[in-house]
Amino acid sequence: MKAAIAAVAALVVGGLALSLPASAAPSPVADAPLVGMVIALDPGHQLGNSNPAHFDELAATHFNGHERKICNTSGTATNAGFPEATFTWNVALKVKEKLEALGADVRMTRHSNSWKKWGPCVNERGAFGTKVGADLMLSIHADGADSSGYGFYVMVPSVIKGWTDDISAKSIRLGKRFVSGMAGSGAPRSTYVSGQMMITPTISTLNFSDVPVILLESGNMRHSADAARMSSSAGQQQYADWIVAGLRAALRK
Ligand SMILES: [Zn+2]
Repeated sequence: MKAAIAAVAALVVGGLALSLPASAAPSPVADAPLVGMVIALDPGHQLGNSNPAHFDELAATHFNGHERKICNTSGTATNAGFPEATFTWNVALKVKEKLEALGADVRMTRHSNSWKKWGPCVNERGAFGTKVGADLMLSIHADGADSSGYGFYVMVPSVIKGWTDDISAKSIRLGKRFVSGMAGSGAPRSTYVSGQMMITPTISTLNFSDVPVILLESGNMRHSADAARMSSSAGQQQYADWIVAGLRAALRK
C-alpha cells in the first residue's frame, strides 16, 4: 500500500508555494480510486513450466470439482517462440504498477519469470485470491487458437455446487463489466468467442477461488497482429492499459 494522502498538500500558485490544510487537498478518491481494494493478479504460467526438469511436478493432478486436472501447463507461444509466460509476466508488472498508482493493494501469485521455477499448481493458484482477501482475482493468459482469430475474451466459473456456487454469479457480472471496460478502451474483441465470455466448469484456477475471479485470454498468440502486439514492450503496455480499464469497470472505480 502506498502512503496516499499527505497531511498537508503543497500548491504552487504563480510561483509561490502555499501550504493548505488536509481538508483543502484534492479528493483522495479522485486521485486514488482503488484505495481499499485488494486485487490478486495471477501472471499465468511460470516460464519453467516448459522446462522438462519440472515435468513430474507438473503432472500431479488435482480434482477441481468437475474433473482431475494436472498441476499446471506450459502455456502457448507465438510462432516466433515468444512464450505466453513472459508476455503475461511483463504485462502483469505493468498492470501492477498502474493499479498501485491508483491506490490498490496488489498481490501476485508469482514473483519471478524463471526457467528454474514451476507452478504454482492450479489449486494453490486458484485459492490465492481468497488467501489474500482479494476483492477480485484476475488471471492473465494468452490463447493459442487457430491463426484466423484474434482479440481478447474472458473465462468465468459456471455453478458447481459446493465449489463455485458462491462466486459464479458475481464473477459473471464483474466479467461482463470487465469485457465492456477493456473493449471500451480499445482492446480488440475476440472474433471466435461469442460475447467475449466463456462460462465454464473446467478451469481449476476459477473453481478453486472463493472470491470473484476472471481469467483473461488477452489475445491469440497465433494471430499475426495479436502476436506482434504481444511481443513488443509498447504493445504489452497497451494490454496493461486495457486491462486496468477493464478492472476499473469491473470494480466500478
Ligand atoms: Zn495460459
